Amino acid sequence: MFSAVTEDGEMFHLLGARQSRKLKQRRFFCPVCGGELAVKLGLQKAPHFAHRQNKSCSIDIEPESAYHLEGKRQLYVWLQTQQASPALEPYIKNINQRPDIMAKIKGRMLAVEYQCATIAPEVFQKRTAGFKQEGIIPQWIMGHSRLKRTAPSFYQLSAFHWQFIYAHPRRELLSYCPETRLFHRISSIIPFYTNNSFCSIQTIPIHQASAENLFFNEPEPSLHYDHWTKAIHRFRHKPHQFISEETNRLRLLFYEKRRTPLSFLPTEVFIPVIKGAVFKSPVFVWQGFLYLFMTDLGYKRAPIRFSAVLQQCKLHIYKKNISLRYECSEECLSEAVKQYIDFLCKKGFLRETQKEVYVLSQPAEDVRSLQDLIERDRACFIE
Ligand SMILES: [Zn+2]
Repeated sequence: MFSAVTEDGEMFHLLGARQSRKLKQRRFFCPVCGGELAVKLGLQKAPHFAHRQNKSCSIDIEPESAYHLEGKRQLYVWLQTQQASPALEPYIKNINQRPDIMAKIKGRMLAVEYQCATIAPEVFQKRTAGFKQEGIIPQWIMGHSRLKRTAPSFYQLSAFHWQFIYAHPRRELLSYCPETRLFHRISSIIPFYTNNSFCSIQTIPIHQASAENLFFNEPEPSLHYDHWTKAIHRFRHKPHQFISEETNRLRLLFYEKRRTPLSFLPTEVFIPVIKGAVFKSPVFVWQGFLYLFMTDLGYKRAPIRFSAVLQQCKLHIYKKNISLRYECSEECLSEAVKQYIDFLCKKGFLRETQKEVYVLSQPAEDVRSLQDLIERDRACFIE
């Protein structure tokens, strides 16, 4: 941390302090527990304070990495340029929390938490709830080093990342890298696999970033569907030796009903649906089960009712064929299924005959080769 109380009871910030040996002769105390703090003037990390013994401190002190300290410093300096009157590490007694930075943007109080270390879900939720209770908007910014890009437009996003995404009102993930001095704004996140998601990525140099824009305005998403198509392509060429239990159940069902191996799954089970983020199952799993249900009806020339497809989806969740990423309302589930069906209509695979009643308009064609299938994938997602 950068803040401490001096012997005279004044607040003291180490931010921008020169590595003066004189500091070593003074005494500093923790604003929360009153414990004595050591001044750390190493070469690796920015000058900062640390508890001599942190056992007695009521605020759980995470050891701060050089990356974290430098990022926090840069964010604070940036917020000073944003007319946001930032306060560094203020202690909020009511909730016993100390955010990295508090700022006021457009009359709204924000707690900016720059999170670089892994954090327990309970702690994350408790902190988020604490700020809300005080009428403060929590604004989590992830240390960019915690993000791994797996392919163009793809990031490895695990449960750790998803808690930040859920906490965001627009389901975004914001990260900052003090080395490149770039914000990365990740939005329109669509999982392909459980832990690998397609998304829109905007990079913004900090000196060009507007806090108001970044924290309150809609991003300008640009999804590169050619990258989505490439992910399908990679899937089709994968050996599929190690597959999850639910993927295996889908594989068996597709083989039994359609004589289709996993690599030959139809294009229609790889539809990028934003609301589909509610599913933890890979995209082809949740869509695969629904696709089989819809085409079974379609082949019998029976109408496909939206309510029946939704019911089927709930049944598969109950049977644990499809898993959810988080508990969600019926409405949320219904939106995901609706987006999927709407896309299939847009591509001419389904046709709506009455409100929320559909028929198959395209007989599923016999696909001869993997090459044909890859060509079909490409044609489906041409922008
Ligand atoms: Zn303390």
